This record gives sequence, C-alpha cells and structure tokens, in this order.
Amino acid sequence: MTRKISDKKIREIAERLSILDVISPVVSLQKSGKSYKGLCPFHPDKNPSLVVNPDRNTFYCFGCGVGGDIYSFFMRFHRLTFPQALEELARRAGLPLERAEGGQPSQGDRMRQAGLAMNALASRFFHDTLMKSREADRARQYLRQRGIDPSIVSLYGLGYAPNRWNALAGFLDKNGASLELACQLGLLARRKSEGGFYDRFRNRIMFPITDAEGRAVAFGARSLGDETPKYLNSQDSFMYRKGSFLYGLSEARQSIREQDVVILVEGYFDLLTMHQNGFTHAVAVLGTSLTEAQIASLRHLTRNFVLVFDGDPAGKKASFRNIGDFLEKGISAKAVYLPPGEDPDSYLKTQGREAFLALLERARPLVDLFLEDRLRGVRADAGVETKLRLLREMLPLFQRISDPLERNLRIQQIADRTGVPEPFLREELSKPRGDKIAQPAPSGRQNPDGGADWSPEERLLCKVLAQFPVLAHRFLESGLLEKVRSPSARELILACAESAGEGDAGAPMGRLRQDEDLARFVARVSCLGEFTLPEAEIALADAIRRLQKRDLLERLSDLNRRIREAEIGNQPELQARLFREKQRIIQQEKALLS
Ligand SMILES: [Zn+2]
Repeated sequence: MTRKISDKKIREIAERLSILDVISPVVSLQKSGKSYKGLCPFHPDKNPSLVVNPDRNTFYCFGCGVGGDIYSFFMRFHRLTFPQALEELARRAGLPLERAEGGQPSQGDRMRQAGLAMNALASRFFHDTLMKSREADRARQYLRQRGIDPSIVSLYGLGYAPNRWNALAGFLDKNGASLELACQLGLLARRKSEGGFYDRFRNRIMFPITDAEGRAVAFGARSLGDETPKYLNSQDSFMYRKGSFLYGLSEARQSIREQDVVILVEGYFDLLTMHQNGFTHAVAVLGTSLTEAQIASLRHLTRNFVLVFDGDPAGKKASFRNIGDFLEKGISAKAVYLPPGEDPDSYLKTQGREAFLALLERARPLVDLFLEDRLRGVRADAGVETKLRLLREMLPLFQRISDPLERNLRIQQIADRTGVPEPFLREELSKPRGDKIAQPAPSGRQNPDGGADWSPEERLLCKVLAQFPVLAHRFLESGLLEKVRSPSARELILACAESAGEGDAGAPMGRLRQDEDLARFVARVSCLGEFTLPEAEIALADAIRRLQKRDLLERLSDLNRRIREAEIGNQPELQARLFREKQRIIQQEKALLS
C-alpha cells in the first residue's frame, strides 16, 4: 500500500495550516517580534528556547537544536511517521489525501470512527435509561439526594446502567452494533463459558469521559449499591488511555480561557457540584496526581492552576506530587486545603459558594506550602543529617524552577532557614542534574551553523538563501553554482530556488525532507531572522563577490603553476599565452575589488 504524495500537495497542506495551529495547543507561546517563543517540549527547558516563525512555518529550539517545519514538529511531538503526520495534517487542512485503496479511510480512522459511534450509542442508552426508565428510579433519587440539578445531568450526559447482565448488550445487539467492538471498548465483557457477552457496568451512574470535541471516549461509573469497586472506569483501549483525559474539560475549556485559571478537583461529583455552583472553569483529574498529558492539555489554556485537596495528611502529601512538573513548565500552581475529610462536593453543600470562594482566594503557592511543610521544625542549628536530607530533596526541585528570580528567592529562603551559606547552595544548584540534564542529541552533524564542509562564503550564502529563498534565482543567474564546493550547500541552494520558483513564502523544506541536518539549518536560520531583506541582498552580493574572488584566486594559482611548467618545459609561446590570461584575471580581480 504505497502511495506517492506530490511535493506540491505536501506544500499545499503546510500552507493551509499555520505551524502555530500545531504548536500552540501543546506549547504556550508568547509573541516576540515577528516570531513566537515558548518552552521547548523536547528537552527540559528553563528559558523559552523554542522559536516559531509563522511566516516560514518553521520552528527551532536554540537549547537542544531540534528544528524543522510543521511536519517535523508534528511527527516528533506525537511520535508519528511522516505518512501518519501527513495524513492527519491533511485532514486538518481539509485536504484529505486520495486513498490508494479505492477511497477507503485508513484502518485506524475506521476503528476510531466506529469506536466513537459505539460510545455515542452506549451514552445515549445510559442517558435515556436514567431519564425515562422505571429501572432508574433509585438512580434519579440518588442524584437528587446528592443535589445534582437536572440541567447538570443533561449537560454532562450522565446516565444509568441497569442492574442486569444484558441491558446494554441487548440494546446494542438490537441496534445491530458490533458486540465485539463494545467488548474492546470495555463496555461489555466476554462470557467465559458459554460464549457471548455481558454488561460490564451494572447498577451504576455513568459519566461519559469526552475528548476535546465533547465526544465520549470512555466512561466512569459509580456503583449505586455496595458493589465494589465504588468507581469503575473503562479499561484502556485504542480510544482511551488512563490519565490522558480530564473529566469535564470540553465543558470547561471556554471558561478556563476566559478566566485564565483552572481549578483542579479529584472526582466526578466534585466537578459537577463545582460547575453547579458557578465554578465552570474546573476539571476533575480522576486521580491524585496529574499526568504529563493532562498538564499539556491544560497548559495551552492557562498557566494558572489551583488545586483543591483534602487537608488531611494524605491529601497534603498528594498535593506535592506534581510540584516539580509545575516548576519546570512555568506553571503557577496554588493549592487549597479543605478541612480534613472534606471534598469540594461536601464542602460546597455544607459551607456554600461564598465560603468556597473565600478559600480559593486564600490559595497559596504550592512551593511555599511545600517548603513550609519540609522546613517545619528545622532550625539553623538543626543537625547535619537533617539539613542534608532537606537539601537533597530541595535542590533538585529548585533546579527545575524556570523563573530565575523565583529561583534566587527560594535559595535565600533555604539559606536563611538552614544556615547553609547561599554561595554554597548556588554552586550546588549550578551542577548538572544527573537524571534529566541529558538532552536529546539531534542526530547527525552537531554543527548548528550548517554543514561542516561549508567554506565561510558558502555558509554566508546558505544563511541568506535559507532565510530568503526568493533570492536564490539571483544567485543562480551569477553562474556560480558550480563554484560552490560543498554538495550539501549546492543541494540547499537548489532547494531554495525550487521553493521560490513556486511563489512560496514558506521555507524550502520539501526537497530537504530527506536531509534532517539541512532542514534543521533552514529552520534555525529562518527562526533567527538574522537579516532584513535589504541586508540579505547586500550579504548576497558580498557572498557572490567572495565566491568570484575565490574562483579567480584559484584560477590564478593554477595559471602560475602552468606558467612555471611551460618555463621548465621551454614552451615560450604557451608561456606567453598563459601570461596574457593571467593579466586578464588580475584585471578582473582589480575590477572586483574596486
Ligand atoms: Zn529544545
């Protein structure tokens, strides 16, 4: 199943999309002149080293040297092959690729579509059952008792799975759905003995867990009776991975953006009660610590996180779990502790919205809380053992603080409390961390400044043309291409000329897709934006002049050698002819220098 997609099509797809559409959902970007800056997702980045150039559709990290075009970013970030990235980006661009096998979508696409349809069907069944069926009397009563409004029930599509073995299985079968697929998605389970399937969720309130577009990808379920476990989730499937989604995110997205803060709670009912009380910018983590995927899905909406925890010792301990991730990713994380034994659901019910608001206002930075917790009882005259233990825990954490000012303040704080001199702490902090400091080495040549075999003239030329491919034709007209010695520099010049010929403002990436080093060079140069166009024109003229001069000098030394040979071989006529040629070249050189 090979298919050849033309370079033109690949370019067209890239032009329809902005590289910002691909990077900004996963990296928080700040405008900086004509380009954007953000923390690089490919290495532990403390200062924003990732630069994105939307005019050229390129990105480059000045920290780890990763760079390229929209496809390279998408492939690297989502760990896709080029054909996979192409297929997905084509779909997003609204330019789906023609299928090699008779207009059929790929196997993966078909599976996903079928999975979404299956979950939608099941979701409707659970919801209808909750709203209409006699079987759901107790479920409705339970939700009323928990104070959940009907509007919330319908907004979140809550449902009920009847207390039978074949309620959903029967419904799906009647609707001609694939029970095998329902089993793969964890809705049904396979009977061990007599074959067939049975309902996996029974006598449970059902919570659809949705993707960014609000489509159910999995379910959470709470038992109504004494069944264990109290909460049961869909197992991992091709649609869903535990820890990759946040409950309520599609409903909260808009509100999080508007308020520029997200409140993180733990459970389904916490979230529903929060929403019902007007805290529409809340999501539920469905666990005690956030995963990287969850942080990534929130971080492009806001950098301000408020986490709500039970104030008992276990809750406090849990609150510190993501602290390193937050520091590293530049997230301002605050925490609120509820009175021991309380959760947001119970607290809102007993104390009300105003009390909760007051708590939120008193939310404190997690790092402060953490330091307080660890420094409690530690005085400047504490024993060496205690201090060592403390420093070993704190220093790796402080190394992850992305803001230098905050890092300094924290060092002072620790120095004051432990009596360990600040310079010593600073020195310790400046040592590389053993675990995370290893940066992903870009493959191949390590020279970010281009090919190792480029002469200074060729390097200047490549820089100019990679930033302004439109100038490539001017260079070709000079007739100097064959004087460029490095094959990779020639390749780059031709790629620039090719992309400029099609009137493309983007970077000349198509032809360079096979050569990662050259593509990275182009990305770097376009993100550096070293030249303005007038400067580039001057630099180009300079590069051309230097190449011409180099050429003349080479011809001159060649002539000198041949003149000497003619002299030795006693060939005065040849010697005279060569000498005249030498004079001509010297004239040319003079003209070049004037
Ligand atoms: Zn990087």
